[in-house]
Amino acid sequence: MAQDKEMNHFEIVQAQFDENAKKCNLDSSMQEFLREAEREIQVRIPVEMDDGSTKTFTGFRVQHSTARGPAKGGLRFAANETIDMVRALAIMMTWKCAVVNIPLGGGKGGVAVDPRELSERETERLCRGWVRQVYDIVGPEMDVPAPDVATNPQDMLWIMDEYDTIARSRKPGFVTGKAVGVGGSLGRVEATGYGVIFCVREAFKRLNIDFKGATASIQGAGNNAQYCCAKFTEYGGKVIAMSCWDANAKKAFTYSCEDGIKPEDLFAEGTLDKFGTINPEKAKAFGWKQEDADAWIRKPVTVLIPAALGSAVHKDNVNGIDFNTVKVYAEAANSPTTPDADKVIKEKGVFVIPDFLCNAGGVTVSYFEQVQNNMNYYWPKGEVFEKLDHIMTSAFNDVIDLAEKEKLYTRDAAYVIAIQRVAHSVAGRGWVKTKK
Ligand code: GLU
Repeated sequence: MAQDKEMNHFEIVQAQFDENAKKCNLDSSMQEFLREAEREIQVRIPVEMDDGSTKTFTGFRVQHSTARGPAKGGLRFAANETIDMVRALAIMMTWKCAVVNIPLGGGKGGVAVDPRELSERETERLCRGWVRQVYDIVGPEMDVPAPDVATNPQDMLWIMDEYDTIARSRKPGFVTGKAVGVGGSLGRVEATGYGVIFCVREAFKRLNIDFKGATASIQGAGNNAQYCCAKFTEYGGKVIAMSCWDANAKKAFTYSCEDGIKPEDLFAEGTLDKFGTINPEKAKAFGWKQEDADAWIRKPVTVLIPAALGSAVHKDNVNGIDFNTVKVYAEAANSPTTPDADKVIKEKGVFVIPDFLCNAGGVTVSYFEQVQNNMNYYWPKGEVFEKLDHIMTSAFNDVIDLAEKEKLYTRDAAYVIAIQRVAHSVAGRGWVKTKK
């Protein structure tokens, strides 16, 4: 595989797919079909700003696959969004839904915008504007958005309301990750982070590691990272570092605490803003030490959890990992590891839980949310977590059992399972005629 710099995100994940298509002996016409999205759209979204001026933003929706069910995946707000980034994330949603065996395809949406520069009203207008522009190709039976980087349950309600307004109907299953009480599922907020730690728990079982005495360092302090911290601590481990982007300082920091960051401090009023930035004053009051952005990666911990953005671990910082102590590398973010860094981590024999397995808890509870919306009957939180744990644990075991049996890297084993499931649906529908 080529070096980091030469490839964009989409090319990286396409190359991973091509390699694993070979491992599955995938028919070449099936491979050709699956390596690109079924449908993509680029739109311009004019938004009236609070000062009366109009700004126009570029938005995207990519439907990589609808073979196993409606396309499914989040909507992100990111200043440097590109169609290739959205394509990469969309194809990964297809493998994610397939590896946990939920009946959904893969998609992703994005808008090129710095969400911190929008007021609440402007954010609402942008969400509604995005729906108006993609309306024709989305819907509860075709393509179902959800929260992702820098979008949240409130944004999903505006998205739902705009869809309902245009449709002159009530279709809560059009979008997931909605606020509880307005069609959302209990447990959706915790789902991604909890799912990550369910996987870590299963990895610990296989490696004979006890949570008592185990430590973790997490990159990020957003929704996913917060609930990784909460569950890891609940199981008896200590999260000794978390990092975050500080918009005022315009750089990232790591906050560390040898005694473990207490979830009650993290969730205390005023510690975090809605984008997952830790208030430095609060951190100081809790006795957390402020360190440089990459300090989280160098911590001598049992588990490293990149839970922020893509390509966070790359060839220039991967060697900072303390390979004597780090036993598990849990990819909570989407594509946090560049191919060069992945090679190093793999060679060192660290137990890698690949992103599209590790962070599938979010979309799994999104699926539960749709099911509840369709029944118009809502489950208690305990039932949601029990079902989530069951799905995550079975998927984890399927992947790791295959990796052990076939001597495959865990990432490749996850790909093999996912690709075979999707190809089975595509062939079954008769879309691609494969050689018998
Ligand atoms: N954005 C999340 C992900 O990347 C969740 C997607 C969803 O719930 O549809 O998995």
